[in-house]
Amino acid sequence: MQHASIDVAAMIGGIQRWVETESPTQSTAAVNRMIDLVQSDVSGLPVKLERVPGRNGFADNLIVRNQAAGEGPGVLILSHIDTVHPIGTLAGPLPFRRDGDKLYGPGLFDMKGGAYLALEAFRQVANAGSAKLPVTYLFTPDEEVGSPTSRSLIEAEAKKARYVLVTEPARDGGKIVTARKGVGRFELKTIGVPAHSGARHQDGRSAIKEMARQVLAIEGLTDYARGVTTTVGMISGGTAPNVIPQYCHISVDLRVRDVAAGEEFEKKILGLEPFDPGIRVEVTGGMNRPPFEKSAAIDVLFRHAQAVARGIGFDLQHTEMTGGGSDGNFTAALGVPTLDGLGIDGDGAHTEWEHGLISSIEPRTRLMRGLLETLQ
Ligand SMILES: [Zn+2]
Repeated sequence: MQHASIDVAAMIGGIQRWVETESPTQSTAAVNRMIDLVQSDVSGLPVKLERVPGRNGFADNLIVRNQAAGEGPGVLILSHIDTVHPIGTLAGPLPFRRDGDKLYGPGLFDMKGGAYLALEAFRQVANAGSAKLPVTYLFTPDEEVGSPTSRSLIEAEAKKARYVLVTEPARDGGKIVTARKGVGRFELKTIGVPAHSGARHQDGRSAIKEMARQVLAIEGLTDYARGVTTTVGMISGGTAPNVIPQYCHISVDLRVRDVAAGEEFEKKILGLEPFDPGIRVEVTGGMNRPPFEKSAAIDVLFRHAQAVARGIGFDLQHTEMTGGGSDGNFTAALGVPTLDGLGIDGDGAHTEWEHGLISSIEPRTRLMRGLLETLQ
């Protein structure tokens, strides 16, 4: 097949434009500016656009469809264009810059670099009319907070798809992802009885003291052998140094390998009882992202991608199950063969040393293009 060349210098320029359009999830207008940019980058292509207005304070979703191969079930590509970095990161600790093979910038690795290279592959395939299946590209605004408003759209599109390709960052030297742990999120509140810490100590029931015991109980659920981890990631409570605290609050993160463990540990956390009967414990939350388990169909899809990579000249590997969740969890849980981690290689997601590797741009753009041209 006659291919347009991959112009890495031009792509670095494109990635720079995307990265310099900061788009933290909570800044709706900023994320919409990023969606505008994607929209302008697909203008002139033989595609149908659908911009789905944001809701609940989040920005819009954008669906780009190339139906040269018809309208039946096809390939769904998923990219989130929100980042965790607040506005000002670019002007502060993490400006866009190049250092040898590394390109730095907020969201460059997670996941604007990967989204941009997939978009380049999509553009070339759309222009050439060379996809074997219809291709739908969905850009979402809220992955970094658990995809509250895009999840239903992702699931609706995935149900219509034969395959799902997710452009999250590559791992450990270019590996892709074929399995992810499921993620649960919980909020726990303890409600005690306030009292003057000097004059009325005996009348108080400390919400913080109770929570200290709850924290140890929750952290104690971690079982590495089973791949279960629990983390109390945030805590707040009390009103003043001289008051027996009435309230304390924590946020809990749960990671599991399989659906059964998800149900078991969700039940354990939701069922936590107070140690001190004078205190109330309120727990809310549950599993957010179901486990993404490597099915036989995912293995077949992975082997196909491996063959495409071999044709390009590199050896594609996959990671063992990773602890981080993504929108691929939703689609894999629906039974749709999903490959993830197809984005740029690099390191430092969510940090001030976040970077992508320039040397990975061309092979991974070719891999994405090869997948779109061979999946059937
Ligand atoms: Zn991501």
